[in-house]
Amino acid sequence: MKCPFCKADNSRVVDSRASADGFAIRRRRECLACGRRYTTYERIEESPIRVVKKDGAREPFDRRKILMGLMKACEKRPVSMDALEEIVARIEHHVTDQFEREVPCQFIGRLVMRELRKVDQVAYVRFASVYRDFKDVAEFVDEIRPLLKSKAAKAGSKTSKPGGAKGSAGKGPGGSKGSGGSKKKPRS
Ligand SMILES: [Zn+2]
Repeated sequence: MKCPFCKADNSRVVDSRASADGFAIRRRRECLACGRRYTTYERIEESPIRVVKKDGAREPFDRRKILMGLMKACEKRPVSMDALEEIVARIEHHVTDQFEREVPCQFIGRLVMRELRKVDQVAYVRFASVYRDFKDVAEFVDEIRPLLKSKAAKAGSKTSKPGGAKGSAGKGPGGSKGSGGSKKKPRS
């Protein structure tokens, strides 16, 4: 590191500490040639990871965007900003841990859902209903059923068996699991 005053390339670090945001190291250096002091910052390189969207478009990974999404889902919910910041940090960690250059947006979406589910169920359902392309209402109900169950249990299970015996006759042929449409996994 060249001294900004005399351009000598010889200095010693006299002090070293984390910056206010914690993402940089601030170093106080002293030039061994002229004796003057200056400060350098060592900062983590901006994440080069890009997010691959559903339509194939790429955009830079943006932690603020995730935070905004979380804030929206947690609007008027008892979830602190600290908790949301922690979630973003965890998600960013997962992403950079598992992907080198590109991450599918679905991966991030699933992480967000998993985190929200732990913190606030209302926020979770809000996010899930927007994020997931639920094909129909039934699919959405499947998703939130565990949450509804726990609520029904509290309220005293009054409507435990809707429809009664009718249900089995009216249903289709037990879903179409065998027909190979369950999960597409393209080879390349
Ligand atoms: Zn100097």
